[in-house]
Parts: sequence; C-alpha cells; structure tokens
Amino acid sequence: MSRGRLLSAGALFVAFTAPSPPVLAQARRPKIAVVIDDFGITSRKNVPDRYWMEIPWPVSFAVMPESPRTRKAARETLQHGHELLIHFPFDPFLDLSLRPDRVYPGDAKQVEWLFKKAMKEIPGAKGLNNHRSLKATQNRPLMAWFMKFLKPTGLYFVDSRVSAKSVAYDEARKEGLRTARLSYFLDTAGVHSRDFCRQKLRLAAVIARKKGSVLVIGHHYFWATYKCLVEEVPELQKEGYDFVFASQVAKAFAPDKVKGAGGGSRTHTALSAERF
Ligand SMILES: [Zn+2]
Repeated sequence: MSRGRLLSAGALFVAFTAPSPPVLAQARRPKIAVVIDDFGITSRKNVPDRYWMEIPWPVSFAVMPESPRTRKAARETLQHGHELLIHFPFDPFLDLSLRPDRVYPGDAKQVEWLFKKAMKEIPGAKGLNNHRSLKATQNRPLMAWFMKFLKPTGLYFVDSRVSAKSVAYDEARKEGLRTARLSYFLDTAGVHSRDFCRQKLRLAAVIARKKGSVLVIGHHYFWATYKCLVEEVPELQKEGYDFVFASQVAKAFAPDKVKGAGGGSRTHTALSAERF
C-alpha cells in the first residue's frame, strides 16, 4: 500500500473536527474498542509507529514497560490523542512462584516493583492489560491481590484472555474495578492476514450489536492488521458502529451482580491463538 493511500494529517484533522451525531443516537450505537498490544517493542518489520499514530479514530495502545522505546511510545500515544495502557507482563517476564493457595511475598514484591517502574515509564496510562501471563492470570490468589493493589491507582483493567481459565476479569469485577475482557484477537503470532482480521472484526461487530460493546486486540507488528483496520473501520463506522477507547467499554459492576460471575466463563475468544 502506498503512503498516499494511508492516512494523512489532513484526514486526521477532518476526522477529529467532524460534527458528532446526536447524543441519543450515539448512545444506542454499538461500541467497538481496539487495543493495540506490545507497543514500544521494536522489530525491523514493524509497521512504523507514525502510521498507527495517524489513525483518526480512538485507539488504545498498550505499551510494554522496560523497552528502550517505552517512554517514546507512551509520549507519542498521548500526543496524538490516543489512549494509553500499561501492558503488564507477569509471567514469564517475572520469576514468580505462583503458589496455588496464597500470594507468595516474593511474588508481590516483584509485581509491585515492575508496576511502580511501569507507572514512571508510562505516565498518563488510564488502564492496564496483561501481556501473556498465562499462569498468573489463572492464579486466583495473585489476581485477587493484584486487583486490590490496582484499585487505588484508578486504572481500569482489561483481561487479555490469553487463557480460557483466566480469573483476572472475575477478580477485577469482584474488587469493583472498571474492567473489560477480550473477545477476539485480530491476529496471532502464526496467523496475521487481512482476511483473518476482517473476519474477527465482523464477529466482534455481531457481539457489539447484541451486548452494546466489544473489545478486540491486535498487535502493532503486522501490516495485515494495520491495513485491515484502516480499511474496515471506516466501513463499520458507516454501518453505525462507534470506535471508542477501551476505557469506554470497561464497566464497573455492582457487587451483588458479581456473585457467580463464573471463573470458568467462556467467551467467543480465539483462545487457541498463539500468545505473544
Ligand atoms: Zn502482549
């Protein structure tokens, strides 16, 4: 795709200054939140950050801590009016014991250390989602403790659902955090094509129509994901969908509604997708 076909600064200006639809109509429009994960990690074949930044509709970028480009990626995300999340790696990045019955003090210490570092490296973050962390997100004591830890920060939590057995979303709900969870990955390490992404976006749109909102996650590495989004999102917008920040689909649940939230609850997620 030539640079000319991609989004220009002019398009950005027009999109941000276009008049909003009437409030009532907008309230009924299904909402789709796109999160772009692993932002700030570099690979030579990456879609350049500036392409992502020029996207004229709201995107939430989940930035990895501890990368040489973390601060730059976080700064540019905010400068371009997008939303910022901390993309938090529990395991295998931290050497956690993950006791099944309680939170091991050494685990808590490591998580606290990385979280504090991430808050400094990624100032202005509104939310947090997990990077990988297959084991940590299945560990109820750790997730329960982490949500208590996260609550005073005011960050919302997105469960990236890297496992069908993740309890992170349930524990976030129990703690009264604003929270959302993945419905579909738009790409995987093994499958990243425009068709795959388009198919997942369309499935997500069906959920958004039924439930009012949906959250999908793609990765900034892939041209196929980028091209799919810049082609498909304007079409979906014309069809009546609103693309919004993840914070706009993260909900707080009343405690009495959380009972039986279902640790084994299933989503329509491509849970067999290879993890990043
Ligand atoms: Zn990730």
